Amino acid sequence: MPCQSVWHSCGESPHRRHRWGSRRISGASPFAPGFKTHANARGEAGGVVATGQNGRVCAVRLIPIHNDIVSSSWGMPGGISRALGWPETTDAQAELWLGAHPSAPARPIEANDFEALDEWEKQSGTTLPYLLKVLTAAHPLSLQAHPNPAQAAAGFAREEAAGIARTAFDRSYKDPYAKPELIVALNDGFQALCGFRPIAQTAAVLTQLAEIAPEPEPVRAFRELLTTEGLRNTVAFTLSRTADVQTLVAALVAADQVDGTIAPVIGIVQRAFPHDDGIALALLLNHLTLREGESLWLPAGNVHAYLHGSGIELMGPSDNVLRGGLTPKHIDEAELMNTLVFDEVADPRLQPIELADGVRTYRPASVPSGEGVPFELWEVTAQATLTLPSASIFVVTDGDFTLTLPGSEPPLAAGSEHHLARGSAHFLTDGAVATISGGGRMWVATAR
Ligand SMILES: [Zn+2]
Repeated sequence: MPCQSVWHSCGESPHRRHRWGSRRISGASPFAPGFKTHANARGEAGGVVATGQNGRVCAVRLIPIHNDIVSSSWGMPGGISRALGWPETTDAQAELWLGAHPSAPARPIEANDFEALDEWEKQSGTTLPYLLKVLTAAHPLSLQAHPNPAQAAAGFAREEAAGIARTAFDRSYKDPYAKPELIVALNDGFQALCGFRPIAQTAAVLTQLAEIAPEPEPVRAFRELLTTEGLRNTVAFTLSRTADVQTLVAALVAADQVDGTIAPVIGIVQRAFPHDDGIALALLLNHLTLREGESLWLPAGNVHAYLHGSGIELMGPSDNVLRGGLTPKHIDEAELMNTLVFDEVADPRLQPIELADGVRTYRPASVPSGEGVPFELWEVTAQATLTLPSASIFVVTDGDFTLTLPGSEPPLAAGSEHHLARGSAHFLTDGAVATISGGGRMWVATAR
């Protein structure tokens, strides 16, 4: 019996879940209650069989996938090809989407019983609660924030009811889902703006800039506004599109030309977006330079902009972006103000958790602002046994791995041993215990 027949006969998914489902899988079994693993006696591709509550079986499969690279003006020439060891190119490569989002779902490399992962979601009744991306940026991305689940659902319904086409310039909500995100730097020197810097720190920077500014008054006034009225009113001012903002930006740029070391973000942004109002907003944010393997956590309402570098990004399965500057795209100031969380963020880094030798996870749920976020990103660098809780997506950025699914004692069942070469991506259709050999750097998106 071919694999797809097994899948279709199942009629239910062992991991039926919603995008924000909080179902937890406990105990030693990697499978949900009601499911058990056993050897794949039929010798079909996959090697793991989950038995559904109806007693029928679904083969767990590992499927090579691919997608088209997303180009963008901020993309890094040949960046994704370099990150994945593909043939060199000079194209401005911004993102590679590895997920089921209908805007750009990943596809099986070989013919399968589904054309793309969004179709697999419909067939299986399963929703991947994440979207994995490889991102490479040569220039700053837009200043942006993403909605929480309630804001996303309400915003999507509102724009649908208003009859705004999903591809329209002024459409903000392309789907009804939240988009919290994390990013791990693939190289030293990944730069980003992330979260509001403590007010006292920004005030100190503004004091220094005012001391050297040819036109210090707008800088002093901005400092006064921030320290007396706080972040909300100060951000509202930066988004007001008034002449006063342009005067302030001109004063900041002139000060930066006197001494570019006080707030290097001014020069970085000025080179990409000369005299953009977003320069004033950018100055309120933490400016971080990550080392390889360091990570940022960007929960709902966090304002951020990646500036330069390569990273692996994992986020909610959404494309909902509220922009606040550094973009020719639509800026909806009112909706951005509704979405932003005006808290000071002392350190937006997400510390990984060691799971075993050669395996660690970047887990949003390990910090209070990530409570309820089901996805996490595993980094595998050496041989290991992975107990994957649910359908997962793999991408290899370095080295070479072999993945074996259980039930594949010699003689190996066809397809139960898989070669995961550098630059390849794979989709595991359900939770499984996978034995990994080889070494390098492999990323696994999964969810609990
Ligand atoms: Zn973002």
